[in-house]
Parts: sequence; structure tokens; C-alpha cells
Amino acid sequence: MSKRVLVAGFRHETNTFSRLATDLAAYDARDLYYGDDILTQFAGTRSEAAAFLDAGKRCGWQIVPSIYADATPSGKVTREVFDHVTGVLLKVLDQQGPFDAILLCLHGAMVAEHVDDGEGELLSQLRDRVGPVVPIGVTLDLHANVTDRMAALADVMVSYRTYPHVDAYHVGTEVADLIARTLEGEIRPRTLVARGPMLDGADHGRTTAPGPMTEALALAKQFESEPSVLAISINAGFPWADIRDTGPSVVVVGNGENSNHAEIASVIIEHIYKNRERTTIETVSVADAVARMRKRGKKGCPIVVADFADNPGGGGYGDATGLLKGMLDAKLKNAAFANIYDPDAAAACTQAGEGAEITVTLGGRLDPSTGAPIKVTGTVVRLTDGNFAYEGPMSKGVKVKMGSTAVLRVNGPPLSRLRRDSGIDIVIASRRYQAYDQNFFKHAGIDLARKKVVAVKSAHHFRAAFAPIASDIVLVDEGGGITSRNFKMLPYKKVRRPVWPLD
Ligand SMILES: [Zn+2]
Repeated sequence: MSKRVLVAGFRHETNTFSRLATDLAAYDARDLYYGDDILTQFAGTRSEAAAFLDAGKRCGWQIVPSIYADATPSGKVTREVFDHVTGVLLKVLDQQGPFDAILLCLHGAMVAEHVDDGEGELLSQLRDRVGPVVPIGVTLDLHANVTDRMAALADVMVSYRTYPHVDAYHVGTEVADLIARTLEGEIRPRTLVARGPMLDGADHGRTTAPGPMTEALALAKQFESEPSVLAISINAGFPWADIRDTGPSVVVVGNGENSNHAEIASVIIEHIYKNRERTTIETVSVADAVARMRKRGKKGCPIVVADFADNPGGGGYGDATGLLKGMLDAKLKNAAFANIYDPDAAAACTQAGEGAEITVTLGGRLDPSTGAPIKVTGTVVRLTDGNFAYEGPMSKGVKVKMGSTAVLRVNGPPLSRLRRDSGIDIVIASRRYQAYDQNFFKHAGIDLARKKVVAVKSAHHFRAAFAPIASDIVLVDEGGGITSRNFKMLPYKKVRRPVWPLD
């Protein structure tokens, strides 16, 4: 009889410094699917969920998709959401079980209102229900904050090994294959984790340039050649979560109990600790970035500028205005900016209609201390429903639902003369998204080949899609956004001490 495998996803990267609670509406706005809708959403994409579905076909499993929930990084997950998702999962286990295995797409940095270790609590509830024997395989983001509880409760846990995360499908396949071998009785996986006294490190996980992360991964690969080692993950951690276990970690999945596996984890984490201060991340002020935009931007080969400190992909509000204001004050030509999160401004543009000239207040609503609202006058050059699919190497095929979206052209010619040099095309979105794909611009008719400057709210993921067209890349960290690397400005209370770089 074919094996029955439960597939589910419950993902969140929680920035505990955010004022925005992550409620059901936040999940609904991004990804909240049940049962067979999960197949419709993910089959054929480059996601880990798709890898689980494909593994099911390959191995002849009967896959039972239950729930898939993902929200844009923001503040703590509400208890209502947590109980809802776990409730659905437990119900499927009760009503459609028994299952031979469970495959989960998790992030690894979820903090809920009532529990700091979201994934540990989820795994604990599932484990209580299915007992110790049913294997649980988990994929994680490489920005996971992995706890001992998570490692103890999962049989197999493997994180992405790329940042930008372009290997989600690959990692999903790896986890599913290890679970398949477990079900065949070929292996008995055990997972353990090691952390060091650091909040940050491993170059925040960057794999686009040689540095501490690529070195740690190379070291892990060497150890993976040992026969009893099944998989090693390097997690850079998610430093904007104030919980005890935040920070880089090494996760080793070994075959059976073997003290050598703990030794391997500690050798790698010590290597990361020794190299914690080395980084390839270089950030500049808004003024310096604007000076570079003026000098280096070329049509068709733009300078790409990232608003590092307000990255919605790390829980940033997406409505901080510091960088945008700098660009507007400089009266840049042939520039584009994606996205500023402002449902009210998007609605005002929609009401005014394409071609209308309008004055709106933009951004700075959620926490004006990270960039106050700005008043801008421009032409509404395009309105969209905000629906499109990622086309770049990261998340290719996965759908985006930004809600009502407007492109407001400021300092540019009116619609009738649009082929002339434009001012700044600002994409105003009704939902918070990190702009790491060219389709954030293209879906709204913005021709990047005509731009000298392209600005995005993103920290690093944008490189996968934008580095190929960029003449230069600049990161801006100014204005106190809640994804700033100026950790000492953030009010940590729960993280274990002493911890680098706070102490
Ligand atoms: Zn990540």
C-alpha cells in the first residue's frame, strides 16, 4: 500500500520590534490555502512545497495537503492565527490519519504572542499527536533561529543554502528524499543544533560573494562527506527577533546517535563565531547614495539602490520614506522606486484615475520615526490590481497579490509625453512586499531598460533578479528602520547575554 504523507506549511519571520501584529488578515493577504488549493498554488513552482508534491509522485506516496500559511514578515503572530493553523493540522491528523510521515515548509524564526519558539511549539503539538515514530521532515529558511526544541522534535531539518534563496525546491527535494529513505528503513535520522554567543554573524547568510557564509558552507560540505552525516545547515539567524535563542546556528542531521555529529556542529559554529565581525555588507547614508545615483546611473544599465533598513522581507514596515525623499529632493530623472506601502495613497490614485494629476501624502504612517509621511504631487500613470507572478530566479512562478497598486510619476512629463525622460515612477502598493523581482515594476508597465536608477525595499534578495541589469548596487541603512543593522539601537530584552555585538 502506498505511504500516506501529510504536507503543510506554516511560515513566518517575526520581527519582534514591529508594531504590526501578524493576524489572519496578514496571512490571507499573502498565502493561506487549504487542501487541494495548495496543489493549484504551488505545483510547478520552484518552492519547497512543489518539491514535496513532486517527491510524492516520484515515491508513489499519497500526498494529503492540509494547510499552507505564509505572511510577509512583521510583528508577532497572533494566538488566533497560531491556534487556527495548528487546529487545522491536528484535525487533519485526527480525521484523515494515520500518516506515515509529515513534511513541513517552515521558516524557523516565528514568534507568536504566547510563545517565543513558534516552530518548537508547532512541532511539539504534532509530535504529541503522532507519537515518536512518525518521521517529520522540515525545510527552513537560512535566517531561522533554531532552538533545541525544534531540533529534538524534527527527524530531518534542512535550511536553504543560498541567499538570495534560490534553492528552495532543491532543499525541499533533499528533505523529502531523506524522509523517503527513513520510510524505507535505510536510515534513522537524528537532528541536533549548536549556537554561539552571537546575535548576528555568518555575513547574515550572504552567498553572493566569498565570505564567512560561503566558508562555513564549504566546511559543512566537507563534513557532509562523512558516511553518517546526512545533511548540514548553516543558519545565519534572524537578529530582529528578541528571543533567547536568536542568532546563527549549525544544524546537523546524522544517521543514528553519534557524538561525532555534535562535535562537527561545534567545530563549524566556532568557525562562524571567530569570523563574526567579517562581513561583505556595506551600507551608506541617503546622501551618499543619492550622490552615487546622480553620477553613475545609466539608461539601460541602472544603478540599483536598496533600502536596507526598511526591508519588508525582514519585517520592515515598507512605508519609511527616507530614501524616497532623498531621491525626490534630488529631482532624479528616469528613476523608479518599488514599493512604498500605502493603501490610502493607492486608493486615492485609483479614485483619481490614470492620467490624473494628484497630490497625496505618502508613507510614514506605521512608525513616523522611521521616516515621516511626505507630500508629493504627480501623475497617475498606471493602475493595477497588483496580481502577478515572480519571474526571477527566486520564487519563480509563485503568485504575488499586492492589492490595488498605482504608479505615481513625480517630477516627470504628463502622460501625453511619456516617452520623454521621466522623473521618478513610484510604485504604491496596498500590501507589504519586498521588491525582489523585476515584475514589481514590469507588471505596472515600468520599462527598466529606460531607467537610470532603480530603488527597491529589500536587503539582499533583490540581487538575484537585479544584479544582472545593474551597473552598480548600493545599500542604504539610515533612518532607524526596524531592519537596520545598527543593533545597539534596538531594545533587546530577552536574548541570552552576553551576546555579540550587544556586549
Ligand atoms: Zn531568509
